[in-house]
Amino acid sequence: MGGDAHLSAMATAALPAAAAPAAVPRLAPRPLIDRFGRRIDYLRISVTDRCDFRCTYCMPEAMTFLPRSEVLSLEEIDWLASAFVARGTRKLRLTGGEPLVRRGVIDLVRSLSRHLRSGDLDELTMTTNGSQLARFANDLADAGMRRINVSLDTLDAAKFARITRWGRLPQVLDGIAAAAAAGLHVKINMVALKGVNDDEIDAMLRWTGAHGHDLVLIETMPLGVVDDDRADRYLPLARVRRDLAARWTLVDLHDTTGGPARYVRIAETGQRLGFITPLTHNFCDSCNRVRLTATGRLYLCLGQDDAVDFRDPLRAGIDATGLDALIDRALLKKPRGHDFVIDRARPAPAVARHMSLTGG
Ligand code: SAM
Ligand code: SF4
Repeated sequence: MGGDAHLSAMATAALPAAAAPAAVPRLAPRPLIDRFGRRIDYLRISVTDRCDFRCTYCMPEAMTFLPRSEVLSLEEIDWLASAFVARGTRKLRLTGGEPLVRRGVIDLVRSLSRHLRSGDLDELTMTTNGSQLARFANDLADAGMRRINVSLDTLDAAKFARITRWGRLPQVLDGIAAAAAAGLHVKINMVALKGVNDDEIDAMLRWTGAHGHDLVLIETMPLGVVDDDRADRYLPLARVRRDLAARWTLVDLHDTTGGPARYVRIAETGQRLGFITPLTHNFCDSCNRVRLTATGRLYLCLGQDDAVDFRDPLRAGIDATGLDALIDRALLKKPRGHDFVIDRARPAPAVARHMSLTGG
């Protein structure tokens, strides 16, 4: 299907399970290298900013979501993702908001998995709160997903309800069990929150170790206004790591995935433990990713406002030359790094948008 015919079809059609892969204009097979020499081969896509939870560190309870008319169709997401795959993206992560509350997202996963089969993509994955996983884990595995990140900040049901406001722990634990049963490798994301779950890190290590899941600890980041004061909750992971080293044997791992997490192996359990420390130690020098919002804006850095709109050019029928040039121009905007700081003297978040918009 040619570009124009394809775009007009996309405007009306939903993405049926057996939809023909969207045709993307033939792009220059030029890898994406930014001004600082970093190779960008990882695209995170927020497929919706909506969510069935309201985690206190992520969004206010009375969160305002994007009007649906602003949001890309699944076909448009597929098209843009495929354009990035054509330009050398090797890894796609669907996130949000909660990706599994977007209707039809499994069809999107099935459709994108053609890039795994063709060998153009190494990995198609997802970050989810797990609430819908019991329903969808098999579909995700059948569609070619091999790994999944599930957010779980506590194993205490009452605390879980307090942190997520609307979430229920048993539902998420069932989801994680379903994912493991479906053969998905599960990595647990735990945002470390002072005075909330800092007393549970050992318990979480034991639980994830016993279930064969990896664990990643994340520092709370100053993204978007929330009801809490982040300064009250900010827990520097450098300190957590020092404390853990007194009780566990942490063996440094030198992974080369270009991600922000630094990993150790816990000798006692064999599992991997990651630390995402944008505040105490930032790893922007090895950043390999960009992020697409549900409205088609490409953010070049989670912690900065530089962004380029792809939705309007896509809807206007951009051709291969224009799309190549737009991707190249976007990359030029990628900054060296973020300027995150959590400080009582500076109560405003570093960036106004919430993590759910750009995708965590
Ligand atoms: N809803 C899905 C989930 O919770 O896994 C995917 C989107 S969520 C925004 C992605 C990840 O970002 C989650 O692990 C969440 O805990 C984390 N997150 C959200 N807001 C954050 C913040 N302000 N600082 C650090 N991590 C945050
Ligand atoms: Fe929803 Fe994920 Fe944000 Fe929690 S962290 S409110 S589950 S988007």
